[in-house]
This record gives sequence, C-alpha cells and structure tokens, in this order.
Amino acid sequence: MSDSFAGLGLSAELTRAVSEQGYAHPTPVQAQAIPVILSGRDVLAGAQTGTGKTAGFALPLLQRLALHGSTSTSPARHPIRALILTPTRELAAQVEESVRTYGKYLPLRCAVIYGGININPQIEALRRGVDILVATPGRLLDHVQQKTVQLAHVQILVLDEADRMLDMGFIRDIRRILALLPAKRQNLLFSATFSNEIRDLADSLLHDPAQVEVARRNAESELVSQRVHPVDQARKRELLAHLVGSGNWQQVLVFCRTKHGANRLAQQLSRDGLEADAIHGNKSQPQRVRALKGFKDGVVRVLVATDVASRGLDIEELPHVVNFDLPHVPEDYVHRIGRTGRAGISGEAISLVSPEDQSLLAPIEKLLGRRLERHTVPGFEPGKAAPAAQVAVRTTSTAERRDGARRRARVSGSPARIGADAGRRKRTKQPSSDRRASDTRERAPQRSKPARGQQHPRPAPRDPVGGKRKQVPALLGGSTRSAE
Ligand code: AMP
Repeated sequence: MSDSFAGLGLSAELTRAVSEQGYAHPTPVQAQAIPVILSGRDVLAGAQTGTGKTAGFALPLLQRLALHGSTSTSPARHPIRALILTPTRELAAQVEESVRTYGKYLPLRCAVIYGGININPQIEALRRGVDILVATPGRLLDHVQQKTVQLAHVQILVLDEADRMLDMGFIRDIRRILALLPAKRQNLLFSATFSNEIRDLADSLLHDPAQVEVARRNAESELVSQRVHPVDQARKRELLAHLVGSGNWQQVLVFCRTKHGANRLAQQLSRDGLEADAIHGNKSQPQRVRALKGFKDGVVRVLVATDVASRGLDIEELPHVVNFDLPHVPEDYVHRIGRTGRAGISGEAISLVSPEDQSLLAPIEKLLGRRLERHTVPGFEPGKAAPAAQVAVRTTSTAERRDGARRRARVSGSPARIGADAGRRKRTKQPSSDRRASDTRERAPQRSKPARGQQHPRPAPRDPVGGKRKQVPALLGGSTRSAE
C-alpha cells in the first residue's frame, strides 16, 4: 500500500488539490479504497465518519469521470455520471464541498440537492448540466417526479452512510432510485455499521465487491476516551455547566434526545452564561447554518444537537462530546462519539447517566463489548441535593448572570458577550417541511419499516439537517463557476 496519493494512482490535478488541503498521506480507508475504485470494482466499505472516507470515494470517482470531462457549456456534455446519496442535508452539503475542493483542477461540474429549500434554483442547476450530483433521497425523488433530473447516464453510484439512510427509513426511496439507474454501473457502499439490512442491501446492489474495512464492526474510535458520570437527571445541566467551566472547554457538542430538550438546554445554558445554541430538525436552514458557523468559529461554545441533526457534522478537532441523554439506539452512541477523535485527533466523550438511564447504558456497553469507566464528580453524587451555590445558578438575576458570565469569560479567555441574548431570541416561523415532525421527539430511527404517511409517497421525516449555501452547479475547475 502506498503512503502517497500519487502512489495510489491519482492524477496530478487531484494530488495537487489534496496537497493544498494539507493532506500529507492517505488515511487507511483512502489507501485501501482508492486503487480498487480506480480499477472499476464495486466496493463495500466499513468506515466511520472521520476516517477520511469522503476523499476515499471522491478522489477516484473524480479521476474516473475526468476521462469524460468537458469544458463545454453545453448541458448535453454534462449528464449526471456520478450520483452520491447521503442521509442528511448537512452531509450532502459537506460531501459536495469536498468533491468541489478535490476536483477544482478538473473540468467537471457538481451540484447538491436536498429538501427544505426552494427547488427552483436546483432545477435551474440541473438544467445547465451536472457531472456529479450529491443528493438526499427524498429531494432527488421530488426532481424525478417533476422530470427535472435525468439519471439514465449514471456510471457510478455512492451510498454514503448507508446504515444511517436505512435507520432513517430511506430504503424504499433508495430502491426506487436504484430502479432508475442503468444496470451497468459501479456501486460504492459506505457504512459505519453492518446490520443484516445493510448486508441485504449490499448483496442486492454490489457485484463481487472489494471489501474495505478500516473500523472494526461497530467499533468506537480508539482515539476517543469515554467516561460515564453518574448524576441525577435534575442535576445534569448543573454538572454540564460545571464540566465546561472547570475544564475550560471551549467547544463541546452535547446530545439530547428531543428537539424540545435541545432547545431548552441551550436556552438554560445561555442563561447560565455559556454561549450555547441548538441544532435540530425543526430549525430553519439559516438557523442551522448560523448555529454551525458560530460553533465552528468559536462564538458558540456549546452546541446542543439531536442525533439526526448531528449526522454529517464535520467539525475539525472537536475535543468534547457529551451525551446529556443516552440514545435509545445503541449504534447512535457510536455515531455520536464519532464526532470527536476525528482525523487522528484525540477526543473525550462523556455520558451523563442518571439512575433512569441505566437501562439505555447496558445495550451500549454490550455493543461496545466493554464496560465504560464510571466517575462520580464530587458534589454531584446521585441522590445528593444540590449545594446552595449551585442552586443559585438558577435563581440569579439577569444582570448577576451577565456579570458572572463576564467573570467566567475573563477566566477562560473567551469573549464576554454572553448570556442574555438567549432571552431576546425570537421564535422564528419554521418552513413547513421542517415542521413536519413534532417538537417533542426527533425522528425515531427506523429499524425495519419506513415511517410513511398514507398518501405521501415518501417518509415524512427526511433531510433533517441543512447548512449549504451553494445550490448551483459549478465547473470544478473554478473559472467558469456559474453561480455561488
Ligand atoms: P471524513 O471521514 O470524510 O468525514 O473526513 C474527516 C476529516 O478528515 C475531514 O475534515 C477531512 O478534511 C480530513 N481528511 C481527509 N483525508 C485526509 C488525509 N489524507 N489527511 C488528513 N486529513 C484528512
């Protein structure tokens, strides 16, 4: 196996683009996947997010398509030849950005389409011609229905985070899309976990696939140190604030089970003087983009997310992940902690576990095949009442809280614009597609059957997360990018 991108058989245009990204060596999944994809074989890859899997399929895909690349502006010269399906809008946007970045020196066009935003710019983009289309299944089928997308020339299909697509009930959509593709094509299936359903899908989709396995089956990242803090449910927020403050954490992703819980926690933390925001499926597209940007830029210190919303978030070097609630589906624990310990950087995953949560912890430990270390934080022992000083956090006035926040900010070195904002934030009217799921529970993962409305041809819960500014295809080579 080569330890250089050129040694894997990638062209000068692609190696130049990756070296501009600062990638010195291929990651293990890239070293394994790139040569077999270049050879034209189908691939079944077990790779978690954070392993560099996107470049693992995007680079060889670009190289294969570059053989037919054209600088012509004629749409006829840019039929969709690669289709990349992802479970969430956020992931779709990130994958498209990666494809665009890696392919910047090639005459290929790419575009991304997902739900929750105006379809017309997407129609316009497709009309102009696209070589590589990144899409979420639901919105792609909207385009199919409106006859605004042509899939008859697809040569390469990628199912990214296939396990998540099945969890979210997309299997019927995927099968409908598969039926629209030419029979002769290359198929690449990437999945972090391998349930029997994934194996069934792989069996029906892939022909003599090369197997690429860089993470153990259902493995958690080895770079993540994991710990359980036993604590009473009612004191989780205090403990979280204490951990963030005492550890001087500047960037922490916190998981809640429900949208409502995520909103409430973000608001309470803001009132406690910590810059916090929430990201979940009921947030409008601009709200999600703003929250994520604030978090990436370091303005938002605590981002509270639901499982669905978190999928696909690629935040480099994220040091801390906290499970405020444990997930109902044990595999989600692995996905959650995969947000940290990415690309070789070590991270810390902490679970706040109340006595009521014990029944959720056991299946997670069973999946991991080991018991997680318990550490009771002094002062937060379960069954012990909050000391007066901690109760006061909830009862101080806004002015006092702001002063406290400023003090904490000075200690931590973070900006002092803290706290009171949250109370001023108005509830924004949500677009209807984002309001579909109730405000109490983020979409429940689907194990076998998709959750479909009777009259609605697609599952109501789809494409929950967004975050992309560009919907118009661009020539990857840059100079003739049509719009951004
Ligand atoms: P992914 O698993 O595709 O979500 O990638 C995770 C992160 O690793 C992204 O931020 C990539 O930019 C980064 N990355 C991908 N390939 C490499 C590489 N060969 N060297 C260093 N970082 C990489």
